[in-house]
Amino acid sequence: MRRPVNPPIQRGTTLLNARIGDLRDDSLGPVYGIDGAEVHTELRRLLAEMEGAQDTFVVSTGLAAVTVALLALVAPGDEILVSDACYWPSRRFLARTLTRLGVTFRCHPPRATPDEVAAMFTPRTRVVLIESPGTATFEIQDTPGLAARCRSAGVATVVDNTWAAGLLFKPLAHGADISVQALSKYVSGHSDVFGGAISCRAPDISRRVFELIEDLGLYVSPDDAWLMLRGLRTLPVRLAQHQDNARRVADWLQSRPEIAEVLWPALPTSPDHALWKRDFTGAAGLMGVVLNGGTAGAAEAMLDTLELFGLGFSWGGYESLATYEDAQLAVRSAPPTLAGPLIRLHIGLEAPDDLIADLRQGLAAFIATR
Ligand SMILES: *Cc1c(COP(=O)(O)O)cnc(C)c1O
Repeated sequence: MRRPVNPPIQRGTTLLNARIGDLRDDSLGPVYGIDGAEVHTELRRLLAEMEGAQDTFVVSTGLAAVTVALLALVAPGDEILVSDACYWPSRRFLARTLTRLGVTFRCHPPRATPDEVAAMFTPRTRVVLIESPGTATFEIQDTPGLAARCRSAGVATVVDNTWAAGLLFKPLAHGADISVQALSKYVSGHSDVFGGAISCRAPDISRRVFELIEDLGLYVSPDDAWLMLRGLRTLPVRLAQHQDNARRVADWLQSRPEIAEVLWPALPTSPDHALWKRDFTGAAGLMGVVLNGGTAGAAEAMLDTLELFGLGFSWGGYESLATYEDAQLAVRSAPPTLAGPLIRLHIGLEAPDDLIADLRQGLAAFIATR
């Protein structure tokens, strides 16, 4: 029989049986719609293959992927260690909800070495949450080194792999226990759907995550899963183009006197370049840009002048975006001292010359107001 290339969108709560006895027959597949349809199975299978996972689960947002993974691993009295540069809603979950459940957390500097992080371990330390590169400031962590220290101390490692999209970095191959990512970003690729993936290294961890998802009653709609599956098909070609465009823009920005620093590990001048080169096979199009002096008002004047760059949160779509990042730094235990305001750019798939021209007029507005 002929069939379409892609799995169909099957919307269904009830799954009908021919005979009542079939309800007891596990060989007939899922018994209830929440167990997922063909499109979920295919999305999970491909994500697991990409991440080198024993099993991958999908949840409704990237943040839910982080929080479900952490919740699956901890019990009251446990402690989580995390980089000070972690995604701030992940930190809010640690500070607000996990603290209420008796799970504490401590932060380490984003460039702490594996030995420095291991020196913080206590008998209560249960999980190290790695985010590499870090949010806003893009520090690369030594994931294999950290994972090895954690493994020998019986501590689990969870890596937020959103920047690398599961393709440019393989946390599980580098010893991590769980790799999570916001599918809302590069995998979807079109700024129109939310989703998160939880990829697990071993069956015991997969079972914990599965049971928590089952207990919480989490579900992703088949329409959303279908969009994410569609995005996944073109992920490698899009990421390669994001990287090429980002390199053009980053090189140009670095040559400008209005710019103090470009925070992008693929730049040979980055302090994280050696680690990135060792562990990653490419770079995404998201970077930090530190302006050279100037006020918050001048940074905002620059952003308001941009025409091609949209102003807004999230990233990973085909379009370029810019945001002002100082609020992300304010929540840290030890905010870094930077030479000026911090901007975040997502370099999309537009012509790089056009993006550079747009930034050129933005920087003119910055200089005029600085
Ligand atoms: C965006 C993002 C998330 C959360 O993704 P949502 O789908 O927006 O919830 C988690 N981690 C990182 C590093 C992100 O950039």
